[in-house]
Amino acid sequence: MKKFFLFVFLISFIQISFAQRLLKITVQIDSSKKELSYINRNGIDYISVNEIADLFSAGKYYNQEAEKIELKFPKFNIKFTAKNPFLTIQNKSDNSVESFQLPISTLFIKNEIFTPLNYSIEYFSKVIEKKFEYDSSTKNLVVTSKSSVRNQREDSVNVKKEFKPNLSFVINDIKIEEKANGTLIKLSCSKSIRKPRSSISNEILYLFFSDANIDPDLEKRVEPIGLVKSVSVKNINEKNSQLEISLKTGYSTVETIQDKETKEILITIHNKLFSNIEENKAKWNFDCVVIDAGHGGKDPGTIGVSGTREKDVNLGIALKLGRLIEKNLPQIKVVYTRKTDEFIELYKRGKIANEAGGKLFISIHCNSTEKKDNGYRGFEVYLLRPGRTKEAIRIAEFENSVIKYEDDPNRYEKLTDENFILVSMAHSQFMRFSETFSDLLNQTWKNSVDIPSLGIKQAGFYVLVGASMPSVLIETGFLSNRKDEAYLSSNKGQSEIAETIFESILKYKEFYEKEIGKQ
Ligand SMILES: [Zn+2]
Repeated sequence: MKKFFLFVFLISFIQISFAQRLLKITVQIDSSKKELSYINRNGIDYISVNEIADLFSAGKYYNQEAEKIELKFPKFNIKFTAKNPFLTIQNKSDNSVESFQLPISTLFIKNEIFTPLNYSIEYFSKVIEKKFEYDSSTKNLVVTSKSSVRNQREDSVNVKKEFKPNLSFVINDIKIEEKANGTLIKLSCSKSIRKPRSSISNEILYLFFSDANIDPDLEKRVEPIGLVKSVSVKNINEKNSQLEISLKTGYSTVETIQDKETKEILITIHNKLFSNIEENKAKWNFDCVVIDAGHGGKDPGTIGVSGTREKDVNLGIALKLGRLIEKNLPQIKVVYTRKTDEFIELYKRGKIANEAGGKLFISIHCNSTEKKDNGYRGFEVYLLRPGRTKEAIRIAEFENSVIKYEDDPNRYEKLTDENFILVSMAHSQFMRFSETFSDLLNQTWKNSVDIPSLGIKQAGFYVLVGASMPSVLIETGFLSNRKDEAYLSSNKGQSEIAETIFESILKYKEFYEKEIGKQ
């Protein structure tokens, strides 16, 4: 019995050690061939950090308690932590320490730290001062001297070999353009893919693609432009890839969308809004509010259940609101896109606002459902965003349909996703301010108006596209609902709404001035 157990034990022991011996990467360092243990998890090859130290005769210090290992090279020390994505590199010349984040954590197996090889290569290359290239399909790691020009040329030819020949690149081109408000990156895709996950750390924007590989030649086509310093491509396996974009300082936010028509992935990196505030402090004073009464003239807007015309309600509220500001805040200029029952094209409304140097644009409307008086009522504030819900699209379509009355309806034809993200790029700079105003308005509204709030929403409105300032569109209520219609068409209702918007402007002014003061 005992002998039998021992035999089984021996068999399994041999099998395990044999299997482990098989998991080796061939390492070619200059002209000598060596081996390195690795483990494959979810298609990613992890190598033993401990063995890297031995391979390059580095000093090593292993802290068992902290589960950290430090490798000591002539000019740099590099430290890895078990089950952790962060690593640090210490520069011995000035003792400075920089930390970096791998997109995934290291593994900890039998008291050894394994790091994802493809992600760690650049850091090993830096500290060991050699060029590393890894072909995950053949499990070959080639380490060459950095200084050899001839080798480097061969290496650049080798770059393509790094990927399996049957790996087809879905993302095959990159274009970077500098725009007034930031930098636009366009990635051409051969098919529809999911929007990448993104994160920023240490001024590097990481984009993770879960269903596409990237042509590594992209890197070579990128020259520093706008907020982009350089681009680096990493194909992890047949599906997952990563684009790393090194950024210059001075960016504020990043947004990504996929253009449904062209299938391009669009990434916008925005400039900081108040970068030159000291020079143009006066430019940012809260000194002008633009009030836009929706529709007018030949465009009545929606018609209420008992015949109320939206354009009249909008104008009534707009004029009352204007008068309140003029009376109580004489230092603020009030600009109306219309003061009478006249038709103003959408693009002109934005133009009026921009030429006046508006600091806040408020567009006033009334909502409606197709079926009249179905009980649906409520107030909504809209922000401009490319993300669109079904309901938001319906309302946006109606409000945007004003265009049919305009002399040149083609003016707006080209509002494709790309154009939209460009204009919304300008808006995302103001988005924080638009959101704050919407918040304040929504809170004030709930306490003072007889129409229930349906909250803050987002949609694409042409009238907001044109205005280069924080802006909102207010759907005050539903004219298709008898209760809302009665309130909206009454003098009392319009006055209460105007007062509510005015109060929100007062609170917003305070917030705005504090924000500007901070810069
Ligand atoms: Zn309207």
